[in-house]
Amino acid sequence: MGKLNGKVAIITGAGSGFGRATTLLFTAEGASVLVADRDKTGAEATVAEVERQHPGRASAFVADVTRSSDCAAMVQAAVERYGKLDILFNNAGIGGKVTAIAKMDEATWDEVLAINLKGVFLGAKHAWPALVKNGGGIILNTASVSALAASPGYAAYSSSKAAVVQLTKVIALEGAPFNIRSNAICPSFSWTPLVERGVSERWPGGEERIKQALAQASPLNRLVTPEEIAGAALYLCSDEARFITGTALVLDGGLSAGKNA
Ligand code: NAD
Repeated sequence: MGKLNGKVAIITGAGSGFGRATTLLFTAEGASVLVADRDKTGAEATVAEVERQHPGRASAFVADVTRSSDCAAMVQAAVERYGKLDILFNNAGIGGKVTAIAKMDEATWDEVLAINLKGVFLGAKHAWPALVKNGGGIILNTASVSALAASPGYAAYSSSKAAVVQLTKVIALEGAPFNIRSNAICPSFSWTPLVERGVSERWPGGEERIKQALAQASPLNRLVTPEEIAGAALYLCSDEARFITGTALVLDGGLSAGKNA
């Protein structure tokens, strides 16, 4: 008996990284998943992986989370294909260009805030009627350890993720009367395409060195894996977490606990 038997989930950014790993775990635990991503190829690759193990439990949907009409259509597709909606995992996000504020162009700020923050708002807004009709459900949001501790160059990213934590609390308060729970997860670095791309752009040829340095920053001396993120998402979306709402779960190997020296 899976922990999500009969549940229907939408996972955004499910064509890669955390979203893909979570799709694989959720479908293995009995859920049906709408694999939403703006990258059609990535979404289809995730579905193909699910098909090998649990045929029929996932399908792709191309959506840009910054567009209201795409978010509405995404929810409609999940309900049409699977009959209802239990879980929305707002996970799509980008790192954006790492730049000091004085040199940051407005386009960078706008793009990061549009995807990482407005995308969460639009997802929640459009999923709301379906979740209420369902008698409740869960809205899980991917924030970051950057929401808690700032780094130079990450003005847009850190601000967007801090706002996601606060938005999660508002969703939790507004959702409680409808049996809608909402939580955020705050991971530290993981070697997903998002981080690998960002490191290669900034330090071409230095990938292995940076990967090691990022791992050493954590007291547990390693990066978090996408599978560990998926495990946390599963817990927060399962019945075991039924009294947990409005929180941000930190997965950082102790990074934010204090200075490790
Ligand atoms: P990733 O790049 O591997 O996957 C992100 C996915 O989101 C991609 O498939 C991409 O196409 C999709 N996406 C981007 N913009 C989109 C949009 N506008 N509409 C729909 N889909 C869109 O990255 P990841 O590391 O798996 O990141 C997932 C989430 O985790 C992001 O919100 C990221 O900020 C957050 N996060 C990542 C790390 C890390 O170290 N990897 C740490 C903390 C938080």
